[in-house]
Amino acid sequence: MFDLVIVANRLPVDRIKLPDGSNGWRTSPGGLVTAIEPVMRSNHGVWIGWPGGTDGDEELFSADGLDLAPMSMSAEEIELFYEGFSNGCLWPLYHDVVVKPEFHREWWDSYVSVNRRFAEKAASLAAEGATVWVQDYQLQLVPQMLRDLRPDLRIGFYLHIPFPPAELFQQLPWRRQILEGLLGADLVGFQLPGAAQNFVRLVRQRVGHKTHRDLVYLPDGRTVRAAAFPISIDAKGFEDMARDPEVESRAEEIREALGSPRTVFLGVDRLDYTKGIFARLRAFSEVMKEGHFGVEDAVFVQVAVPSREQVEEYRILRDEIERLVGRINGDLGEIGRPAIHYLHSSYPRAEMAALYRMADIMVVTPYRDGMNLVAKEYVATRFENDGALVLSEFAGAAEELRQAYLVNPHDINGMKQALRDAYDASPKESSKRMKAMRKTVTQNDVKAWADSFLLALSQVGTHEKEPR
Ligand code: UDP
Repeated sequence: MFDLVIVANRLPVDRIKLPDGSNGWRTSPGGLVTAIEPVMRSNHGVWIGWPGGTDGDEELFSADGLDLAPMSMSAEEIELFYEGFSNGCLWPLYHDVVVKPEFHREWWDSYVSVNRRFAEKAASLAAEGATVWVQDYQLQLVPQMLRDLRPDLRIGFYLHIPFPPAELFQQLPWRRQILEGLLGADLVGFQLPGAAQNFVRLVRQRVGHKTHRDLVYLPDGRTVRAAAFPISIDAKGFEDMARDPEVESRAEEIREALGSPRTVFLGVDRLDYTKGIFARLRAFSEVMKEGHFGVEDAVFVQVAVPSREQVEEYRILRDEIERLVGRINGDLGEIGRPAIHYLHSSYPRAEMAALYRMADIMVVTPYRDGMNLVAKEYVATRFENDGALVLSEFAGAAEELRQAYLVNPHDINGMKQALRDAYDASPKESSKRMKAMRKTVTQNDVKAWADSFLLALSQVGTHEKEPR
């Protein structure tokens, strides 16, 4: 039995086939595992999640000293629960309906049954009085299901993506069930204060519970707190990697391969319709077409990480972006000098650090993004306080990184102006902005995020009687 149970859709490792045909594991250390790993080790923790694939093996195992509990997923569950309800309904709805969310009852049924399996697994692994921390939009029903099974537990929930305003959330046929699912937690954490406020307001209006500021008072005497805990990155880890001479020489190698232009613009995103890749490339190409810089002065490197390729919107988006890149390069490129270098691929952390190091201007323009870690990672690698960040106002990161060139990604002219401003900025101006942003990112790293959430979770209390 474990004193700390992390429940997430994915395990921090992938199941892989070894050359001899047997099963093996490859760690995929994201920000979350870096943050949670130390707490898991000091608290006798276990991580429950899906290891990818469809084999049914649910044996507990250890990888790199972490205890892991794989949850199997059938092909049908992947289609209905994961690609369907999670990514075809909740993802677009919570990101301000950039594409239309679909509401299908069979997706919902699968969401309920997968959430129940995660709750049952957590209930079976948690020690008496343990802390369970449930992660993200795929598992919003787990807190209440788990509380019904195990009232002795302290339960936290964290939403990594935005939480929508009431007008959008109310479209969801299962809005009440989701709110009640989340209220099973003692603490519900969001990226931004506005999201926590949306949630509390919805609980008051839709479920009818009393609320005061960030607290919800349940009729049974329990108190639920909803508050913001903006997630961050392993800032020191990224800075150390950026200082590595191998990363530095790789960065130089990439710049040379690009033809050593004066300025390299960089975009790194999952290929997702929320990320605003199309609009940003259009803005860049228009600035170039108007002669503010030419292909010998500037290039744009766009990394588009393959994502959710089974979902139709993602396939359509890929086609659109690739057509646009072809058109821009056809119009503006010269032999050996394309205007846009487009890579449909994903890279390990060291290569990411080299990309950040070689880029003069990082361009992050989502229509809506819970946080956007790429923006923070870029800042963390700029240890010489050079470089510039063009950042969407609609990324969570914009609340902290105020010295970025903030843009509205729906406003192409505004984006063009920001690209020109970043390109024209003096080294002194860039340094002033970057220094301030680096201070913010270094001081609020992912360890501080995890510690503050877990401390707040341990402090949520009960109310003695019905508050007035
Ligand atoms: N990332 C990576 N390799 C890549 C592209 C991205 O490891 O080729 C990582 C990146 O360093 C960041 C994460 O993927 O930590 C993306 O997080 P973000 O919040 O920016 O976007 P999300 O994909 O979660 O929407």
